[in-house]
Amino acid sequence: SLTALYDTGKLRINSPHGCHIPPNEVHNSKISLIRYDITCLNIDAIVNAANTTLMGGGGVDGAIHHAAGRGLFNACSELNGCEVGNAKMTDGFDLPARKIIHTVGPKYFETEQEHTHSEMLRSCYRRSLDLATEAGLRAVAFPSISTGVYGYPTKEAAWVALEAVHSWLDESGDKLDRIVFCTFLEKDLDAYREFLPVIFPHA
Ligand code: ADP
Repeated sequence: SLTALYDTGKLRINSPHGCHIPPNEVHNSKISLIRYDITCLNIDAIVNAANTTLMGGGGVDGAIHHAAGRGLFNACSELNGCEVGNAKMTDGFDLPARKIIHTVGPKYFETEQEHTHSEMLRSCYRRSLDLATEAGLRAVAFPSISTGVYGYPTKEAAWVALEAVHSWLDESGDKLDRIVFCTFLEKDLDAYREFLPVIFPHA
């Protein structure tokens, strides 16, 4: 098999096609920034940027459903959907990740006020981390929630994501060993690279 397993610090990455892996940009003892396909991460939990039906869609949601298989579809059909800003957990099924945390980001152009959509996005990160730690998980990887078809501007979304995780860690940091920001497009990676040292200056 072409499967390669990369072990970079505490983050294990399955590369089913033996494909090239970029450097894992470990920022501090708790935060990693990478650009990769989140479905390949061998980690306690990956977060899915789902929609309110939880029944699959395009983008990262489609990739996760495709890779996790029918078991995920069946599990999601029992969940009765999820509200914007909330999160629900399933097993990882055929993924290398043990669990999937499905969260629903705001649609940027359908949310009236700026503070509403940033609060919703913030809530996605916080609820996902709460669920992970309630289940005893120690490491979680996030995609850039809402920055695809939901239209959240890259830089604003990266800022909200980092600030939400920073404030959550301030309150409950000892409950988790690692949080991975798993970007897919270069523009998202660039935005996280810019703001990581601003929001986590003492790393
Ligand atoms: P949303 O509906 O929340 O905007 P999308 O899936 O359209 O969700 O986009 C969310 C983010 O996920 C985007 O930054 C997109 O580039 C990224 N993405 C798409 N596929 C993957 C993948 N396989 N792994 C990680 N991130 C991905």
